[in-house]
Amino acid sequence: MSQSEPGYFGVIVRAARSVIDGLAVTMSYVFRPPITVQYPDRTPVPVPDTLPERYRGLLEVDMETCGACRACERDCPIGCIRIDATKEKGADGKPRLIMTRFDIDMSKCMFCGLCVESCGTDCQCEGDTEPSKAIHFTREFEGVVDHQAQLVYRFIRPGDRVMAAKPVKEVVPARRRGIALREARRHAQVYNALAFAWALDHEQHKDDETVAGAAPAAKADDK
Ligand code: SF4
Ligand code: SF4
Repeated sequence: MSQSEPGYFGVIVRAARSVIDGLAVTMSYVFRPPITVQYPDRTPVPVPDTLPERYRGLLEVDMETCGACRACERDCPIGCIRIDATKEKGADGKPRLIMTRFDIDMSKCMFCGLCVESCGTDCQCEGDTEPSKAIHFTREFEGVVDHQAQLVYRFIRPGDRVMAAKPVKEVVPARRRGIALREARRHAQVYNALAFAWALDHEQHKDDETVAGAAPAAKADDK
C-alpha cells in the first residue's frame, strides 16, 4: 500500500516539527561552554609565546650586543640589510666603531636565516632556553601594514649614533625576543611611509627639473 501524501495541515505540522528540531540543536549549544577563542586580543596567552623558539618570524637585532662586523649584511643574498658604520677616535684615543644605520627590509626577506648563521655574536635572550645571535628571528608573525615602506625596520633612529659592542667569545645576555622588533615596527609605521613619500616626491621633482633643463637642447636639435 502506497503512503498517502499529507494534507494541508499535515504539511504545516511537518514543517513546524522540522523547525523545532533545528532550533533544539541550536539551543543545545547555548548552554555549552565555548570552544572557540576570540583571536587575536582575547587569547589566554599571546600567540607568539605559544610558538617554538626556533620559529622563523620577523627579524630583529639587539643593538646592545651587535659588533657592527657587517657579516649579516654581506651574507644576505637579497640585500635586505643595510648597515652604516664608521671608525672614529674615542676620548681615550682608541678607535671605536660608530653605527648610524641598521635597517632590515622585511618586504624582501625570504627567511633563509643566512644572516643569523653568519653573525658571530652569541646571545642568550631573556626567557629563552637556547642561545641565539645578535640578529635573530622572533616569534612575531603578523607583519601586515598599510604601506610597503613600513616593512623597513630601522633599529637605529635616523640621526642617532650607536657605539658597536666589543667582540667577545662568550655568550652575552640580550633583551627578551621581540622587544626591539616591536619598537622598530612602531617607528616604521609612524615615520617610514612619510619618509618614502618625501623621497619619491623629491625624485619626481628631480626628473621634472632634468626634463625642463633638457628642453632647450631638444629645440636646438630640431633646428
Ligand atoms: S633571512 Fe635571509 S633573506 Fe632575510 S635578511 Fe636574513 S639573509 Fe637576508
Ligand atoms: S648583527 Fe651580528 S653579523 Fe650583523 S653586524 Fe651585528 S654582530 Fe655583525
